[in-house]
Amino acid sequence: METIEQLLESKNIRVTAMRLLIYKFLAENKAAVTLSNIENAFEKADRTTLYRTIKTFEENDIVHQIDDGTGITKYALCEQGCSCDIKTDLHLHFHCNNCNETVCLTKHKIPQIKVPDGFVSENVNLVVKGICDKCSGQ
Ligand SMILES: [Zn+2]
Ligand SMILES: [Zn+2]
Ligand SMILES: [Zn+2]
Repeated sequence: METIEQLLESKNIRVTAMRLLIYKFLAENKAAVTLSNIENAFEKADRTTLYRTIKTFEENDIVHQIDDGTGITKYALCEQGCSCDIKTDLHLHFHCNNCNETVCLTKHKIPQIKVPDGFVSENVNLVVKGICDKCSGQ
């Protein structure tokens, strides 16, 4: 198992205390987090630094954005080895209508979506809505 330091270094990201803390925060949260979740968790930190850290993570395939239809962008850690590739790495997301959490279903990859000639896919966002396992009690 790689350490977080090794993971950041392998992506050519300089290791800083703030980056390590934010990575750990994302790893501890099973559900996707919003920028304001991160701001609340690190109240003393500069908001611009927090935002830049998430952007750096996103640009280097450490986190991915999720648009779950709530109008607020959420972020979740990528799996190790993920390159956020539209053909191989995109997975389903599940939004629970009861607890309002959104989780990655990383084992459930998005099937290849065909688009007409002349159209170029850059991203696919597939969100299933319903009741999560915690809320359904199963
Ligand atoms: Zn990814
Ligand atoms: Zn739920
Ligand atoms: Zn995800």
